[in-house]
Amino acid sequence: FDQRDGVIWFDGKLVPWKDAKIHVLTHGLHYGSCVFEGERSYDGVIYKGTEHSKRFHASAEIMDFTIPWSVAELDAAKALCLKENGLKDAYIRPVAWRGSEMMAVSGINNTIHTAIAVWEWPSMFDMAQKLKGVRLDVAAYRRPDPACAPVHAKAAGLYMICSLSKHKAERAGYADAMMLDWEGNVAECTGANIFFIKDGVIHTPLADRFLNGLTRQSVIEQCKKRGFEVIERRIRPEELEGFNECFITGSAAEVTLVSEIGPYSFITGNMGKVIMEDYSDAVRPKSKAA
Ligand code: PMP
Repeated sequence: FDQRDGVIWFDGKLVPWKDAKIHVLTHGLHYGSCVFEGERSYDGVIYKGTEHSKRFHASAEIMDFTIPWSVAELDAAKALCLKENGLKDAYIRPVAWRGSEMMAVSGINNTIHTAIAVWEWPSMFDMAQKLKGVRLDVAAYRRPDPACAPVHAKAAGLYMICSLSKHKAERAGYADAMMLDWEGNVAECTGANIFFIKDGVIHTPLADRFLNGLTRQSVIEQCKKRGFEVIERRIRPEELEGFNECFITGSAAEVTLVSEIGPYSFITGNMGKVIMEDYSDAVRPKSKAA
């Protein structure tokens, strides 16, 4: 991935993709002092781009550092990156981390670096898979108690258990893993939020203990506009047996239908499909109007 053509925005300058390098003694690498974003542009427009920049700032503040670029500067940098790489439909990855001046648990005086990379990534799951429904494993690792980790930051360190869970799931032939919270309630997937449908009502875990995804928030709003009832509550894994449909949401995953979680199966193509199409229309308002 580091040997591509194109440019990366790095601390205010556009540098060749292959030269966007950091030192091995970077604090962010050793101690996880790093936050990032995941966004998508559609027809040249980043969906909720400013909200992502604001969350990027908020994540850094939770991680005890300040990104040295304003939300407006980040928005402009993302647009520049898309333009210079000649991309209209792309995935956008801003990342910020503590640098390498001090090598100790404290990195309090280390420089904060910021970079933005963009690339073509049509889908986390291919279209056929998204419609047919993906299969999810149930992760062994649980999302941590908010008293044990800064769970509302999109912080790199929190992805350690996500990567481990996703690797295990993929090796077993699943697309992703559903993670429980520390109390054993359904939480989210390794990079997406989760929803269930039963008798026409949508149920989703309360996002007070994991990332309240921007896609999750958009989907809830869209569902309410359509007149669908949405209930945010604690969901026990035993309830999965009684749900008719399931889908996951995220900037990378968009809306992806789920056909199976462990031993439970769900139908696809009903309400979930309508919600998926509503999201596609929302992210491409121009195409819809055309
Ligand atoms: N949960 C986790 C752990 C994630 O990584 C993501 C992707 N950022 C989400 C949920 C969904 O967030 P969003 O809809 O803002 O992309």
